[in-house]
Amino acid sequence: GKRQRLDKILSHTGFGSRREVRDLLRARRVMVNGQVVTGGELGIDPEQDLVLVDGQPVQYREFTYLMLNKPAGYLTATRDRYAPTVLDLVPERWRARRLAPVGRLDKDTEGLLLLTNDGALAHRLLAPNSRIPKTYLVRVDKPVTPAELETLATGVVLDDGYRTLPAQARSVNSENTELELTLFEGKYHQVKRMLKAVGKQVLYLQRRTMGPLVLDPDLPLGVCRELTAEEIGRLK
Ligand code: URA
Repeated sequence: GKRQRLDKILSHTGFGSRREVRDLLRARRVMVNGQVVTGGELGIDPEQDLVLVDGQPVQYREFTYLMLNKPAGYLTATRDRYAPTVLDLVPERWRARRLAPVGRLDKDTEGLLLLTNDGALAHRLLAPNSRIPKTYLVRVDKPVTPAELETLATGVVLDDGYRTLPAQARSVNSENTELELTLFEGKYHQVKRMLKAVGKQVLYLQRRTMGPLVLDPDLPLGVCRELTAEEIGRLK
């Protein structure tokens, strides 16, 4: 396989900055194939070499995958001159990795956003014909009738004449002002425009799932965490 510097691998797998990794090595806490290694320049083949930190095997990953619980007020962009972006919520240790959001949530939308530097995966998830389901919690200004739920599910005509694909829609509160909506496509402002087509205004919007990924209920707003190996596996 392709060799990479030990310090780079340790930094990429969550052991901190270059400097923190250097301290870790100097403290003799890193072993490669059974030998203590104190220098970061050693070339490692991630497929062949066993790297241990404090006796625990390092989970080598080529790419970084972060789940963010996006708060309202942040743009899904990598930089913007005026507004804060979701990249501003990524902790320092992941900043240098060219992470990009997979798909887009509106500035006022909250919830699940995947950030990665795995371009092939992002491409696959975003392909127009990928049909990966995305589930939203939607709060609207007026009750949605059963007939309107049916319309949302079978397809509504948006303001530009586009007819939406079949979706799933169900009420989740007794006032019928909160819905769970699952879409298999992602047109611009789709949820808001679908609700507008049945005469409702969206007051709150949160994405709960994207394909096999589910928003971690323990992840506070504005915080991101790495995907688990299991979650990454489900995405592939
Ligand atoms: N649909 C919308 O209208 N907004 C989003 O942020 C996501 C889906």
